[in-house]
Amino acid sequence: MSTAVEHLLAVRKAIVKAELEANRREGSVTLVAVSKTFESDEIRPVLDAGQRVFGENRVQEAQSKWPRLREDYADIELHLIGPLQSNKSEDAVALFDVIETVDREKIAAALAAEMKKQNRFPKLYVQVNTGSEPQKAGIEPKEAVAFVKRCRAIHGLAIEGLMCIPPADENPGPHFALLEKIAREADVEKLSMGMSGDYEIAVGFGATSVRVGSAIFGSRT
Ligand SMILES: *Cc1c(COP(=O)(O)O)cnc(C)c1O
Repeated sequence: MSTAVEHLLAVRKAIVKAELEANRREGSVTLVAVSKTFESDEIRPVLDAGQRVFGENRVQEAQSKWPRLREDYADIELHLIGPLQSNKSEDAVALFDVIETVDREKIAAALAAEMKKQNRFPKLYVQVNTGSEPQKAGIEPKEAVAFVKRCRAIHGLAIEGLMCIPPADENPGPHFALLEKIAREADVEKLSMGMSGDYEIAVGFGATSVRVGSAIFGSRT
């Protein structure tokens, strides 16, 4: 068994444990395996082990790997978890099944236009910058509810979820709680939160998906 597959099974087991500890139904949390920087050869064993949901943070990198992998494996669900430039929205709409990083008006408009043009409708999440970090993408927490409403009303986008990346040096719990609160106010169902270091905590705060990279594939160089 490849190391990545051993890690995958351990992460799946830890998710089930966290679900049960939080009195949540087993299987209620989706594992998004974050394969950015890893080659197709390293991803294939994880696909062979049955994993079908993956996250990539760059459109171009994803384009270089996933169309080929999709020929060999059915039912792959690909999530874009990195910042999106509006000039990449055509490629993003064509390739991804979930775009987790809608965070400004211009992107919302570009995605709406592309989705109509391609008649292809990836699910959309709004990224919230819960720590208001200047270097980080995402809409400000205090603007998030209004932004979700504008995406729906003005751009006709069905926003299904929220995503956040808490500041690296802070306790993530309050950030997960904030995202959950905004989701309730904005009437959004899905919560993408939790990474290798804190996915079990995120499950306790109601994550519906966790994005786990290095705990499965190893450290990125
Ligand atoms: C890279 C990345 C992850 C995975 O990070 P790990 O700590 O390796 O699990 C999750 N979410 C986003 C947005 C990322 O860019």
